[in-house]
Amino acid sequence: MTQYDVAVLGAGPAGAIAAALLARAGHSVVFVDPDPRQGDRIGETLPAFAADLLERHALPGPLSSDAHLPIRGVVSDWGGMRTQDDALMRPGGPDWRLDRGLFDASLRAAATDAGASSVIAKVNAVTRKPDGWCIATDAGVCLRARRVVDATGRRGILSRSLGGARRQQSRQVAIWAVGDPVGTKIAATSRTLIQDGVDGWWYGAILPSRRPVAAFHTTTGQATQMRRDPAEWHRSLAKAAVLAEHLPTALLSGAELKFTDATGEACTKAAGDGWVACGDAAIAFDPLASQGLLNAVRTGIAAADVAAGRVTPAQYCAEMDRVWDHYVRHHASLMARRALA
Ligand SMILES: Cc1cc2nc3c(=O)[nH]c(=O)nc-3n(C[C@H](O)[C@H](O)[C@H](O)COP(=O)(O)OP(=O)(O)OC[C@H]3O[C@@H](n4cnc5c(N)ncnc54)[C@H](O)[C@@H]3O)c2cc1C
Repeated sequence: MTQYDVAVLGAGPAGAIAAALLARAGHSVVFVDPDPRQGDRIGETLPAFAADLLERHALPGPLSSDAHLPIRGVVSDWGGMRTQDDALMRPGGPDWRLDRGLFDASLRAAATDAGASSVIAKVNAVTRKPDGWCIATDAGVCLRARRVVDATGRRGILSRSLGGARRQQSRQVAIWAVGDPVGTKIAATSRTLIQDGVDGWWYGAILPSRRPVAAFHTTTGQATQMRRDPAEWHRSLAKAAVLAEHLPTALLSGAELKFTDATGEACTKAAGDGWVACGDAAIAFDPLASQGLLNAVRTGIAAADVAAGRVTPAQYCAEMDRVWDHYVRHHASLMARRALA
């Protein structure tokens, strides 16, 4: 049986980046993911800084395909204050609306091009052995590796068992839908739309596929109510003024509602002896922060450094604590502005 230097569990952006950088540095790497071709995925705004980081590490970013589009700016109504910014005025350049399937696929291709092996399977169990780890998959394949990177997103299959208690904000659910394509007169390079409300907040945009997307972020109680009565989601959308004004919401009328956990949470320890967690498996942000992909890029790069022995687990954990503390403070100030309205 092949013994790899590193097994990367999960091949979203964080895992694919870690696998690509480790393979480029000459390590033998395998990455394992059951679902490399996902359908609609929410989470497609890539901050300009993340695009810059990808470029600096010679990884495929938004400029690698015409399918990804620069975002013109943000229109938001938050805490009773309506604002509109223009991305052209930002020193770091615009954020990007990604074709998320293509973005994830291009990072996985970078990993295989660098020599990483890909296994299409779900990891069922990870067991520590005297010389490393044994990774059991649902494809009947059992992999051996000296070190493991947990990049399984919010599932955090290793970080949830080894990373200590999760630090968690109030539970939040994103209820979202993607509508029929808009006509060619509406620019797909639209602005990002944000609207707060009594029991949650709305996000809206037009995807590069020209399809409108809208998401309501709310409590678990309200989500249960909307699961029972999906018309309630549409009624709430109609009252979200910024979305009603800028998004062709009628195209969402027949769309299927999807429910996704959107709670801000982190493990207390993101790395240890022979393992490291990155991306959402280490810290998952409230989507309001729009930092999930930046975090996936940064920690994918940093996890490669930990797995290669260039950064100690303690240094990595200290950095993750700093990021979490900063995020919690910033989030609290945003919520306070809303409460003051
Ligand atoms: C509603 C919502 C909106 C968001 N919007 C934005 C946004 O606009 N901008 C932004 O930057 N971020 C956004 N995010 C966050 C962003 O989507 C995530 O932070 C990002 O996808 C994390 O990347 P990742 O690689 O860590 O995990 P993921 O992209 O979740 O990838 C994890 C991978 O692990 C695999 N996996 C899971 N379990 C196993 C297993 N047992 N075995 C093997 N593989 C497994 C999965 O198949 C998947 O491919 C949003 C999140 C939500 C919930």
